[in-house]
Amino acid sequence: MSRDIKERCKQLLELLKEYSDCWTCGEVIKDSSLLVPDPFNPGLFRSSCPKCNTETTKCYFPPKALRIVFDMIVESAELNRPILVLVLSCTVFEAMVEGLVFRLLERRHTYPEICEAIVDATEYHSKMRIIHSLTGEKLRSLATTAGYDKLLGTLEEIKHKRNSFLHTGVAMKVEMVESKIDKLFTFPQHKELDVEDIKQALEFTIDTVHCFAKVYSEFGKYVYIDEPDY
Ligand SMILES: [Zn+2]
Repeated sequence: MSRDIKERCKQLLELLKEYSDCWTCGEVIKDSSLLVPDPFNPGLFRSSCPKCNTETTKCYFPPKALRIVFDMIVESAELNRPILVLVLSCTVFEAMVEGLVFRLLERRHTYPEICEAIVDATEYHSKMRIIHSLTGEKLRSLATTAGYDKLLGTLEEIKHKRNSFLHTGVAMKVEMVESKIDKLFTFPQHKELDVEDIKQALEFTIDTVHCFAKVYSEFGKYVYIDEPDY
């Protein structure tokens, strides 16, 4: 395994031990000292939140249930299986989108079972429309504000390679190559997925975690809606 890949796998696993999500203010903070195990709630943490200044419960971010996918990403990268790393990196992104929809609904006092029903019943593009409706912005613009303007573009590139595999069973990519005869011309060439694709998907997954940490924080607070006067 190349040093680059090893370094990025390490970076990705480290992230999972650093971020936590505050149950009081919804701020997602990268500070491992906040992850103090709560003896009364196994699997959760309790510490003073630097954002809302309360002694409060925290959970892992990304959520614990998603950890198995991160482990699979690292294992697939170590085994040099680019297509698996690509597929799983898209799974992480889509799970984070799902979590954002859940958060937007739940922070507007929607019952958890209704949040779950909506998340289950909507496909990816409908979730994107819900995000747009409830935040006033498209996810691409939320990612840009968070400092990750290339994230959605990279997602499209990775999805293109993933979908090509899902529909044909052939893990290939298309690259534009300069003609050896006349350098003014380029032509598309099919190539097998390689270590560069693994690197791209690992970096994309790391950026996805950082980006959604900021977006989740921005929409972490509960939205109080005034009851209408009848
Ligand atoms: Zn807090």
